[in-house]
Amino acid sequence: MSLTRRKLQTKFTSSKEEIDRCFERFNMLFPTDADKAEAIYSTLAPEGFHCDCGNLVSNRKYGERTARCSRCKKKASVTAKTFYEGIRKASAYCCATFLMGAGIVISGNEFAKRNGISSSQGSIILHSLSAAIALEMSAEAELLTALVLEPVGKRSSETPAREHPKAEQIEAEKRAAKNVSTTTRVNPRASDRKIPKGDLERRIFSLLKTDSLHPDDICGLAMLTITEVACALTLLELDGFVRCLPGNRYEVIERPANESVRALNKKDSRRVNNFIMFIKKSFHAISRKYLQRYFARYWCFIDREKWTFDSLLELFARSPYQTYFQLKSYVSPLAVRVVLSV
Ligand SMILES: [Zn+2]
Repeated sequence: MSLTRRKLQTKFTSSKEEIDRCFERFNMLFPTDADKAEAIYSTLAPEGFHCDCGNLVSNRKYGERTARCSRCKKKASVTAKTFYEGIRKASAYCCATFLMGAGIVISGNEFAKRNGISSSQGSIILHSLSAAIALEMSAEAELLTALVLEPVGKRSSETPAREHPKAEQIEAEKRAAKNVSTTTRVNPRASDRKIPKGDLERRIFSLLKTDSLHPDDICGLAMLTITEVACALTLLELDGFVRCLPGNRYEVIERPANESVRALNKKDSRRVNNFIMFIKKSFHAISRKYLQRYFARYWCFIDREKWTFDSLLELFARSPYQTYFQLKSYVSPLAVRVVLSV
């Protein structure tokens, strides 16, 4: 095989050496925990850090999350009501962002080990970051999860008792079929446009894709006023993207997956195979329920122009906060959003 040809070969994972080098670079650029934390904190309040009382807090120390407000004397936190609300180790979030921005893929265990945190903590950090990237994928092509079950081999809370992890797919299909038959007729206008037109509507639509939500929750998560949210919800409802459930919660109307998903052509199947190789080489096996997030990780891995340390920090700074429960209970829909090449 010639050298040029070897260069063109697709890369499926990050080697141990690459990971080592990236950690070295990271620790050189951000030697202390305060440096690492500040890299995140400085993205959160570019126009000044304000206390809940409205006062501009100017005495926050470098690398520290909280500061005493000089007006109301309460402790104000720079991460409050942000994506990073309540995080335990900002330095580890910074590290994960740096790795992703450098196009490094790392397993939850390895990441945890190198950061001196528990493996569950490590995996929730990687999950929360991938979930935020996945929210950016609402306009991307759809792919049936049924076509990418090969690397699924890890049990999850969704796996039926005494069944193979792949059986989750059948459960997901059954659930989707039940939803279609028990809910009101899908608005025919919904299929005219696959995603909402307006920015605000798209943002709220992405949020609702993770969970059904009350308008008040949407305000909090998207940091919007109730008027903005109510207005956007009305438009989304009129266009058949969402519906209102009892208790004034809104949910996304799931279109039958096969309707919108294009068939795989030869090029696509090769690209899907690249994704499968990526999963096998980096994670060995994954659970079905998180497929969408692995596609987000893959996007980050292959799109080296779009996803840099800075662009990721900027994305997370404006991403909605998700609770531990929301992160853990997420289940990938029958069709996931994918970027398979750049
Ligand atoms: Zn205050």
